[in-house]
Amino acid sequence: MQVPTLGYHNISAGTQVGLNTVSPSRFKKHISGLARFGMQGITTFDSPDEDSIMITFDDGYEDIFQNAFPVCQNYGFRAIVFQLADYIGINNDWDINFYKNNHLHLSKDQLLKFVEAGWEIGSHGCHHQAYSGLKYSEIYADMAVSKEKLENLIGKEVHSFTAPFNMMVPTIYQIAEELAYKYIFLQKPLSTISENKTKVKIIERRSVYSFDMVKNLIKKIENKSRYEIYKENIIHFCSNATIGTKKLI
Ligand SMILES: [Zn+2]
Repeated sequence: MQVPTLGYHNISAGTQVGLNTVSPSRFKKHISGLARFGMQGITTFDSPDEDSIMITFDDGYEDIFQNAFPVCQNYGFRAIVFQLADYIGINNDWDINFYKNNHLHLSKDQLLKFVEAGWEIGSHGCHHQAYSGLKYSEIYADMAVSKEKLENLIGKEVHSFTAPFNMMVPTIYQIAEELAYKYIFLQKPLSTISENKTKVKIIERRSVYSFDMVKNLIKKIENKSRYEIYKENIIHFCSNATIGTKKLI
């Protein structure tokens, strides 16, 4: 059963607003709206039914704990955080936009509170490097070390993975299977990658942006709107252009 899955990054207010930052008030509208439609936020550890949805947060920012966690708790939603294993409790200096868009990552205590509440912690690698520029052994190490560090930290299995920049390379499936990952989360519109011949399950998700309203989320979930897919393709193309820029500096 494919559970509809949404991808968020930051939930914060103030001046540091970008496409990947959803304001706390809007996020509250999203979750209350989805709850009104009878939906229930789950993780890959839960048994899905037709009302299930998965809410995911990439990179593991501290604002998720401050602004998203209380809202999700209020509506009985569990969620999945894809944490960067080498960025726990420190700033996001891995990000090219760090100087104008600096954020703190989640601390160990905050991650443990998520786990206590039934949330899932997945791996997003160690330091947010684009895998297209790495050797096989480097990708293997990033996926293995991040899993091990997070498991040691939370005392629970980490079996979900999403690649930094959502950039897939063909070897990821094989490595994921060898390392006992069970799920790889992909960006839905642009995942034109090689065939998956392993037992690792692919979970396709749709990105949520700062301007998205509940009706956009419903369209993403129902996957009916060509406009939604077109919009995400354009935004994803722009963020890949950022990776190109980063390599030059
Ligand atoms: Zn990321």
